[in-house]
Amino acid sequence: MLAVENITKRFGSNVAVNDVSFSVAKGEIHGLIGPNGSGKTTLFNVVSGFYVPTDGNIRFEDKPIGGLSPHRVAREGLIRTFQLTSVFRGLSVRESVDIARNVARSNPSLSGHGNWLADFRETDAILEYFDLASSANRHADVLPGGVQRTLSIATALAARPRMLLLDEPLAGLNPTEKAKIAAKIRALRDGFGLTVLLVEHDIKSVFSVCDNITVINIGRKIAEGTASEIAANETVIRAYLGSAGVNNAGR
Ligand code: ADP
Ligand code: MG
Repeated sequence: MLAVENITKRFGSNVAVNDVSFSVAKGEIHGLIGPNGSGKTTLFNVVSGFYVPTDGNIRFEDKPIGGLSPHRVAREGLIRTFQLTSVFRGLSVRESVDIARNVARSNPSLSGHGNWLADFRETDAILEYFDLASSANRHADVLPGGVQRTLSIATALAARPRMLLLDEPLAGLNPTEKAKIAAKIRALRDGFGLTVLLVEHDIKSVFSVCDNITVINIGRKIAEGTASEIAANETVIRAYLGSAGVNNAGR
């Protein structure tokens, strides 16, 4: 569904992403992990159209999307989570979901697809699914962090993604909130076949949620595989997980 092909992104002399390739199949939850500063967010921004790649191609459902504006990428159905605090300031939970739904409805390329999203056609159904109904009339920006993060995923869903891009959806959450959101991401895939690219620092969650994982270090891909393959990969342990392995990662 998504093919990232030999992507390089330079900032001046700094090569933030260096010749990285990976692909994500339809219905797959694909993790992108690596140490701080390894280029995860930069790659995420290239995929979502916020940065123009210095080199390489990105294909989404066989259509070249590298270098398209964020707006155009979203129109193709590749939806990233919104930054709640800037986008939804002053709006209630319900209004936030409504706006995202209206954006999708007025977008011809999104309105006609997504039978798997039939369950999410109405705002109430979305709020219900994400346990947000009781907070529907509250202002989004005063909600606890975990609820805000849930809302950002709910609004992304309301925009009818063919594929969802999540950049650290679990950052700053407590273990209970993390488990809850991780379970939701998994349920969206299991129940509706949603395809997800997940950039996340919390290794345990990544290992439990992702089908396949790409590991980058200093801008380069160093490994790719299932959670158990990655956890046992010597190069990944040396560069990222450390000698204590999984238990020591994600801090
Ligand atoms: P990660 O998300 O894995 O922590 P980033 O993608 O944020 O890593 O950063 C990778 C490298 O790219 C870092 O060296 C960072 O300083 C650099 N970088 C990221 N964004 C920019 C930018 N807008 N301008 C210049 N350098 C940047
Ligand atoms: Mg980052």
